[in-house]
Amino acid sequence: MRLYNTLTKKLETFKPLNPDEVKIYTCGPTVYDFPHVGNYTSYIYWDLLIRTLKKNGFTPKRVLNLTDVGHLASDADEGEDKLEKGAKRENKTVWEIADFYSNYFLENYEKLNLTPPDVLAKATDYIEEDIKLIDALTKKGYTYETSDGIYFDTSKFKTYADFARLDLDHLKAGARVDFNSEKKNVSDFALWKFIKPDEDHAMRWDYLDRPGYPGWHIECATIIHEELGETIDIHTGGIDHIPVHHTNEIAESEAAFDKKMCNFWLHCNFITINNEKVSKSLGNTYKLEELEEKGFAPLDFKMWVLQGHFQGTRNFSFDDLSAAKSRRLNWRNKAASAFQTGKTEKQPDLQEKILNALNENLNSPEAFSIIDTNELSFEDWQFVDELFALDLVNNIELPDFIKRLISERKEARDHKDYALSDQIRDELSENNIVVLDTKDGPIWQFLN
Ligand code: AMP
Ligand code: ZN
Repeated sequence: MRLYNTLTKKLETFKPLNPDEVKIYTCGPTVYDFPHVGNYTSYIYWDLLIRTLKKNGFTPKRVLNLTDVGHLASDADEGEDKLEKGAKRENKTVWEIADFYSNYFLENYEKLNLTPPDVLAKATDYIEEDIKLIDALTKKGYTYETSDGIYFDTSKFKTYADFARLDLDHLKAGARVDFNSEKKNVSDFALWKFIKPDEDHAMRWDYLDRPGYPGWHIECATIIHEELGETIDIHTGGIDHIPVHHTNEIAESEAAFDKKMCNFWLHCNFITINNEKVSKSLGNTYKLEELEEKGFAPLDFKMWVLQGHFQGTRNFSFDDLSAAKSRRLNWRNKAASAFQTGKTEKQPDLQEKILNALNENLNSPEAFSIIDTNELSFEDWQFVDELFALDLVNNIELPDFIKRLISERKEARDHKDYALSDQIRDELSENNIVVLDTKDGPIWQFLN
C-alpha cells in the first residue's frame, strides 16, 4: 500500500510499526455547531483508509477526538472559545452544547456508515493529562508565561518550521503590530489560557493557582500519548491543519517525549460549493438533513465524495450529487441483478484490481471506474460494499410480501391477466420495486 505522506511530501510504501495494531489518530470536530457537508468529507475518506487497511490484513486501532473546549475563533489563540460562543448563541450551558453537537455528529457519522472509532476521546476528559504534558514541557524549558496564559516557545523547537515548510521570517513580517505583544515569536501558541476575573468562561480548571483552560492543540498531543503512545503510524486531518494545528501538535509531542510523533500524515483537500468556499455568509453550509430534504440519502453524498480523490479539489453541486445518486442506484440494481441471476463471467482478479487501485494512495475514482467497466458477481459487490459501505448489498433480501407480489405478478402474466398484473405492478412500485421482463425471466430492481 502506498500513501502520500505530508511529512516527506512523497508517495511512500506504508509500513506500520505493528501490523496487528496500526495506530491511527483523526482530528475530530469542534462540537459547537452543525457540521456542514464539507466537514464530513474528511471522515468519509478516513473511513475508506480504515477499510482499505483491513482488506490488506492490518488491524487498525483508531482514535477520534471531540473538541469540546479550547478551540478559539481564530487559530492564533485569539477570540472567543467556540463552545462558549455556541452556548451564548443558544442560551444553553457549554456542556449542553457539547453534548448536543457530539450526539448530532455521531448520528450523522452512523448514517454515513462510517466505522466507529476504537476510542472516542473528549478533550475535557484529558485535562489532568494536558497539565502533565505542559509541566513536562515547562521542565524542559519550552514554555513561558504571559499575562493570558502559558505559551510554547517555538524558537526552542528547532525543527518547528519543517513539517509545513513554514517561512518563519515571512510570518514575522506579516504579523499584525498589535498582535499579542507578549508573545516572543509570532508562531508561539497557547498551551493553557488563564481566565481573567471578569471573563465569562464556564469551562474552567485550576492550574498554577488560577482558573484556566487548555489551548486547542494540546488535547491532540495528550490524547495521542495517552491512548496510542509516543509514536503512531498515521495521523489524518484536513489540509487546513497543516500549518498551525498539526505543526503545533508535533512540536508539543516531540519536544516532550523526544520521539518522532507520527510516521504518516494524510491530509484531505477542501471542497467548494458551486465554486465558492463553504461559509455561513454564502448560505451554502448544507447539513446532511438539507440534502435529505432535497431527496438525497446521506450515502448518495458519500458516493459523490468517493468519486473524487482525497487530495483533489472538489466542487460540489446538486447536479453532480444527482449524478452520484443515479450511479449508486445503478450499482444497487446491478448488485440486485447479480444476486438474482447468479450469472456472471467470473473474473478472478477483479477484487484484486479494485483493491490495488485503493492501495495506490486511496485512488477511489480509479476503483470506481474499474467497477463501472466490469461485470461484477454478487460476491464482488459484497467486496465493493465492504470497502465503500454504500448499502449496495443489504436490503437485497426482499420482504416476504414483496416476493409474493412478484410471483403473483408472474402468474397473472402467465395467465395473460394483464389487469391484475398491472395492479400488482402499481403495488410494487409503491414499495420501490419494479419488475423487468428479461430474456432470463423477470428481474426486480429498485426504483429509487
Ligand atoms: P471544525 O469542526 O470546525 O474543527 O472543522 C472540522 C474540519 O472540517 C476542519 O478542520 C477541516 O479539516 C474540515 N473542513 C472544513 N471545511 C471544509 C471543506 N469545505 N471541505 C473539506 N473539509 C472541510
Ligand atoms: Zn488535532
